[in-house]
Amino acid sequence: PTAGQLAHARSLFAVTPDFPEPGVFFQDISPVLADPAALRTVAEGLFAPFAGGFDMVAGIEARGFTLAGMIAALTGTGFLPIRKAGKLPAPGGRVEYTLEYGTAVIEAPDVLNPEHRVLIVDDVLATGGTLAASRELIGQLGCQVTGAAVVLEIEALRGREISGEVHALFHA
Ligand code: AMP
Repeated sequence: PTAGQLAHARSLFAVTPDFPEPGVFFQDISPVLADPAALRTVAEGLFAPFAGGFDMVAGIEARGFTLAGMIAALTGTGFLPIRKAGKLPAPGGRVEYTLEYGTAVIEAPDVLNPEHRVLIVDDVLATGGTLAASRELIGQLGCQVTGAAVVLEIEALRGREISGEVHALFHA
């Protein structure tokens, strides 16, 4: 994507203070997804550094699904849903991780083989816990993680110290 295309997409984020709880600045990607040009810009910008190096795109529920599915279609690769607990009848892997308050669980279906090279995609990197758990989950499935890409990184939360290397299109 060009600098102009990226600036257009960046301008569309909707920020809501104190949602879903006090102190959180919620970064809503919905207006970006709703804009045809911005949608293509973010999908192409997310996979560009990894082109040719992956054959499966893992999207984190729920907003990561949209972007990962698009990237899979644009690049002729497959799609893997990383789901919240309890949605899959027979998960191939399961990782429990710590949130600020309590814990969360993610699961993935048993559809990969050891040859798969996986690109992990999500909308926002916050504390990094979800991405770190996703890397662990792909490892449980016996596959290599090529890389991770997010549309927006919230730098003040220092998530990449936990998540490991991540390609972020935009920063807040
Ligand atoms: P974390 O595990 O803290 O990095 O949180 C990442 C997940 O929570 C992503 O799937 C995001 O969609 C969501 N998330 C966390 N914080 C925010 C935020 N401030 N705005 C939008 N989404 C967020």
